[in-house]
Amino acid sequence: MRYSKLFGRTRKEVPRDTKLKSHQLLTQAGFINQTAAGLYSFLPLGFKVLSKVDIIIKEELSKEGVQHLLMPYVSPANLWKESGRWQKMDDILAKFTSKRGQDLLLSPTHEEIVTDLVRKYVYSYKDLPLILNQNQFKFRDEIRVFGGLIRSREFLMQDAYSMDKDKKGMDKSFDAVVRAYQAIFKRVGIEALEVEADSGTMGGSDSHEFMAITGEGEDVILECDKCGYKANIEKAEFVREKKNPKEKIKQFKIIDQPEWVCTNEDNVKHYKKPTWRYLKNVVYKDEKGRIIIASLRGDQEVNEFKLVRAVKADFLEPATDEDLEKMGTKSGWVHSWGHKGVIYVGDLGLKMVRNFIGGKKEKTTDSSNVNYGRDFKYRKAADIVNAKQGDGCVKCKGGKLKEVRGIEVGHAFKLGPCYSESMKAEYLDSKGKLQSIQMGCYGVGISRLVAVIAEINRDKDGLIWPETVAPYRYYLLGLDLDDKKVKSWAEKVYQYLLDKNEEVLFDDREGASPGEKFNDADLLGIPWRLVVGKKATAVKKVELKGRQEKSGRMVELKIL
Ligand code: ATP
Ligand code: MG
Repeated sequence: MRYSKLFGRTRKEVPRDTKLKSHQLLTQAGFINQTAAGLYSFLPLGFKVLSKVDIIIKEELSKEGVQHLLMPYVSPANLWKESGRWQKMDDILAKFTSKRGQDLLLSPTHEEIVTDLVRKYVYSYKDLPLILNQNQFKFRDEIRVFGGLIRSREFLMQDAYSMDKDKKGMDKSFDAVVRAYQAIFKRVGIEALEVEADSGTMGGSDSHEFMAITGEGEDVILECDKCGYKANIEKAEFVREKKNPKEKIKQFKIIDQPEWVCTNEDNVKHYKKPTWRYLKNVVYKDEKGRIIIASLRGDQEVNEFKLVRAVKADFLEPATDEDLEKMGTKSGWVHSWGHKGVIYVGDLGLKMVRNFIGGKKEKTTDSSNVNYGRDFKYRKAADIVNAKQGDGCVKCKGGKLKEVRGIEVGHAFKLGPCYSESMKAEYLDSKGKLQSIQMGCYGVGISRLVAVIAEINRDKDGLIWPETVAPYRYYLLGLDLDDKKVKSWAEKVYQYLLDKNEEVLFDDREGASPGEKFNDADLLGIPWRLVVGKKATAVKKVELKGRQEKSGRMVELKIL
């Protein structure tokens, strides 16, 4: 490819609203362009990288016996009503009605369509196991887009679905896809940690995420420094330690407290004691309108994923001032016990503190020496808070959790029968009995993966593509092209590489300065730079330099 003909030039100005360096670089280097928030075009360079990642993914899955197909991007509403997700996933679904009045949506994922497909074709245990895959667009009307391709609204995803007779088969299929994923991440030049994760609206029992460790990113992972236990913060468990086991349990009392003391920070200011001393209540409302009070220690944060699971809700939102008014209270005055018609859920950590302050805030009083189990107790106590740096590991003795930031590149779920039961995807077992298919689903964000590769492989000058996914292998940089002899040699080298089936981008621009060309070579991140100019032609050699090497070396090409 000749640079002079390439569509999508490099640009100097840094695009606005780009928090991640990879987003800046991919835009500046002319790999992607934003059409609207969360909608991107892949320009020729970007499309080359995307296509290579796409092929690697398909190749590695094929090695595990996965079959490729393509399902429609648009899905009819009736399938989503059957599975129950037409309502459940409403906040991210792009629903529309066709001119003939049919309710449709842009697929955010394809469990419904694949389950429908399989129930039409699978009859007996002899048709199983099966792993079907597609690399297809998805649309999710994400509230918050982030990092360009990292969290977009439309994105390209590899999504595979396994169908098995029983749990044992499902586990085997799961392992096969995980093996393929590990091979994929290795081939595209990134390291991805496999961590335990929350299954969210996808359903099912067990799920693993693949996290690229990027330093920056939306996901927080807790990793044990001793046994290697790894989990997303959405799921990570930890050991709660007793805070003041030697303190004597004191008598409950109501104490005077200035009216301004409402929040945890106010408590610290007023009582000058550590944050774990105070009781904290956070109020939510679920999709059915139920009010949920999460009760926890002042030093902890509610983990909404855990809380959703504990109360078996689809989603939670913070209670409004109106909701609090209906309960007869207001913000900062919520009690840890006594509100009627609400669901109280207490964190397990409440048992670890003796003599709490708080829990019954009134205008000028509050309670003190409050002890869980003696002064208040919940029907529901659960793990509803975030694990954090330094917490004890649940999987080993003495291990401490550390926090790392990353970006999720893949997710694998053991769904079990949760779609096959509701959508009646069944097979006849060897005894002629109808059974539900055991399913798994597996996704890698292909477009996200391109951004993650860029985020990990870069320096101050630009991108550094691993050879396996680089848009071109060589960047042939022509200097002094107004000199006829040099120009003809540069053309010869270009032709030579083409004849050898090498992928080469030939910077043949006559108007661009050497500085511009060298800068672009670095920005684009093509693995090998070849320079042909007066200096090279004089010695009948070209200069070859790897993108990360400090200096180049002169190499002979027989053709010169
Ligand atoms: P996340 O937790 O990042 O929102 P998810 O768990 O909802 O993602 P899955 O439904 O498991 O994602 O999708 C499989 C993969 O698709 C993810 O691992 C991720 O790589 C990619 N992906 C998900 N949402 C987006 C998005 N909005 N933009 C780009 N890629 C995405
Ligand atoms: Mg996730």
